[in-house]
Amino acid sequence: MRKVFKYRLYPNTTAEKKLYFTLNRCRELYNAALSERKDSYQLHERKQLQINSETGQVVAATMTAKQRVKAVGYYGQKRALVEIKKLREEYQGIASHVLQDVILRVERTFQRFFDGAGFPRFKGPNRYDSFTYPDGAGWKLDVEEQGNSFKGTLHLTRIGDIKVRLHRKIEGKIKTVAIKREVDHWFVVFSCEVEEPAQIPLSYEDVGIDLGVTHLATLSNGEMIEHPRYYRRAKKTLEKRQQALSRKKKGSHRRERAKKLFGKAHRKIANQRRDFHHKQSRKLINRYQVIVFEDLHIGNLTRRPKPKQDEETGQYLSNGAAAKGSLNKSILDAGWGMFVGMCSSKAAGAGRTLLTVDPTFTSQVCSGCGQVRKKDLSERWHTCDCGTELDRDVNAAINILARGQQHLGGKHPTSATA
Ligand SMILES: [Zn+2]
Repeated sequence: MRKVFKYRLYPNTTAEKKLYFTLNRCRELYNAALSERKDSYQLHERKQLQINSETGQVVAATMTAKQRVKAVGYYGQKRALVEIKKLREEYQGIASHVLQDVILRVERTFQRFFDGAGFPRFKGPNRYDSFTYPDGAGWKLDVEEQGNSFKGTLHLTRIGDIKVRLHRKIEGKIKTVAIKREVDHWFVVFSCEVEEPAQIPLSYEDVGIDLGVTHLATLSNGEMIEHPRYYRRAKKTLEKRQQALSRKKKGSHRRERAKKLFGKAHRKIANQRRDFHHKQSRKLINRYQVIVFEDLHIGNLTRRPKPKQDEETGQYLSNGAAAKGSLNKSILDAGWGMFVGMCSSKAAGAGRTLLTVDPTFTSQVCSGCGQVRKKDLSERWHTCDCGTELDRDVNAAINILARGQQHLGGKHPTSATA
């Protein structure tokens, strides 16, 4: 299995100059190779046109894609690199395999073209942003472990040593190394061969999960996953910036700037949420064998009135709640869907079962006796004549789990041993 690790590079001025130099030479080579093949393609294509002798019109070009490029092709161009290096000294300063990879890129765009994609295009300076070491030659990575963090140095032949910020540990065997420019930042992208994740041991615990506004998730065993701590502050920033944005005149520079700031806050909250959801979903998958969620597509209908509640305190908001509602909805809804999606893909990789059930009345039905106990949204506690006393969301989560288990029909190990 391939896994990709991307890290920020911190080249010094000399190394950065060489990075730009290499990138520009690669782009130049790419465009030249493309131009040669384009000419060859057009020349050969023209020769093969069938002309209707009576009308003089072109009937068809009959050559197959492979024949068309016979004159100039991938291997021919790869061989020509030796000549190019002789004629253009500056190319001698670039690792051979990097240049070969450029030729391969041209070949790939032609293959895609033959498969129906558009005709390959020349690349302007902003359109060509990476070069690749396709194997183990021309580079070396040194990693130094310092407590919990890693210090890395990437040695590139004829370019120099570059500091790498290894924010997470690299795994597996490095197969290819790409150097990538993003605006004025440089990155290294390692594509690594890693072993398939080992199956985690079978669990005998199942769980039902109620997703909510007060808590991110309430589990059927009474545990809760709270919204992350940073969330409240990030959301405040987001709201403030949205208000600022709405006050700016349409089409103005100030509005553009406010828009950028709002976008930035949005991205930050999205990134934080993604990290948090990854961690939480991993925990759930490690612990439970069967995980039952409510089906959000159905759930949203019953949830509609909820945004009128303050999502932190569960209290009702008086005025302006509707306007705030759409923002809250966009923050929270996206979060739930993504969270379930992450759990789902991790479950698939780990041999766990995840299913979603119709959530209708899950908060109204008593999980102890099955009777309907109507309550409005402000009632946070479930009390029933049968003696069941539960948090409203825990009651719902138990019902969700029960629906899931009913659906599985006792065919899985947990319910057989329960
Ligand atoms: Zn009851």
